[in-house]
Amino acid sequence: MIIGCHLSVSKGFEAMGKQAAKIGGNTFQFFTRNPRGGKAKEIDKSDIDALIDFMGKNNFGKILAHAPYTLNPCSNNERTREFAFETMTDDLERMEYLPGNMYNFHPGSHVGQGVEKGIELISGLLNKVLFKDMKTTVLLETMAGKGSEVGSRFEEINKIISNVSLNDKLGVCLDTCHVFDAGYDIVNNLDGVLENFDKAIGLNRLKAVHLNDSMNYLGCHKDRHQKIGKGAIGTEAFARIINHPTLKNLPFYLETPNELDGYAEEISLLKSLYK
Ligand code: FE
Ligand code: FE
Ligand code: ZN
Repeated sequence: MIIGCHLSVSKGFEAMGKQAAKIGGNTFQFFTRNPRGGKAKEIDKSDIDALIDFMGKNNFGKILAHAPYTLNPCSNNERTREFAFETMTDDLERMEYLPGNMYNFHPGSHVGQGVEKGIELISGLLNKVLFKDMKTTVLLETMAGKGSEVGSRFEEINKIISNVSLNDKLGVCLDTCHVFDAGYDIVNNLDGVLENFDKAIGLNRLKAVHLNDSMNYLGCHKDRHQKIGKGAIGTEAFARIINHPTLKNLPFYLETPNELDGYAEEISLLKSLYK
C-alpha cells in the first residue's frame, strides 16, 4: 500500500521523507510554496538528492506536489491568471529536480464567466506550461463544486484534458471528499462512480487519490474535510475504496484535519483495513 499525508516543506525535502516514514508512510504530499502563494524557497539540490536517496532506500511511491490554493487559471482577473502561469511555470521547472513524480492543481473557479470559458482558460494555461521533455505528471484534482469551481464533473475534467496538446503529461487526482460533495456516491455505488469516471475520462488517467472524509452530505458542494471515519463517508466505505481493484495500487494521500500523531493513527488504521 502506498500511503502518506500532507506535510510541511518548511524543514526541507529530506526531512519530509523522514517524517513520512516515521509516521508509517511511504509517500507524502507538500505545497510547492506557501498555500496562499508567494515565492518558493531557493532550490537546495543536496537536500533534494538526499530525499531521492532516502525514498529509494525506503521503497517510497511517487510523491505529490500541490500547487497553492490561490492559483486560479480561469480567473476573470488577468493578473491572477498571470500568477497562475508564473507559478506553474516555476513549479514545473523545480519539479524536474524530482524527476518522475507528480504535481497536482485545482482547475480553478470561473467566477461567473461560465464553465466553457473556464475550461478554455485552463486548457490554455496547460498548453503554455507543459513541455515536451518534462518528467512530471500534472494532475487535475476533482473538485467539490463550491462556488464556480470547474472540475466537479468528470466530463469537465475530460474537456480540459482533450484540449491540451501534450496531454500525455496529464492525469487526474480523485479527492474522496470532493467527489462525494460533488454528488458522486462513493459510499453506496463506488463501482458506478468509477464506471462513470472511466466513460467520461478513462481510468488510465487516474494517478492518485486524496483520502478525506467529508463533514457534509452527498452533493453538498461544501469541501470541508473530516478525519477518516468521522464524517459522512465513514470507515467501511474507506475500506472498500482502498481495496477496490481499480484504486488499491494507486498512491493515497491524506489531507484530513490532523497533526502528525493523528496522521500516524489514520495511516495505521488504513493499513489495518488494507488486504
Ligand atoms: Fe487540493
Ligand atoms: Fe484534495
Ligand atoms: Zn478540499
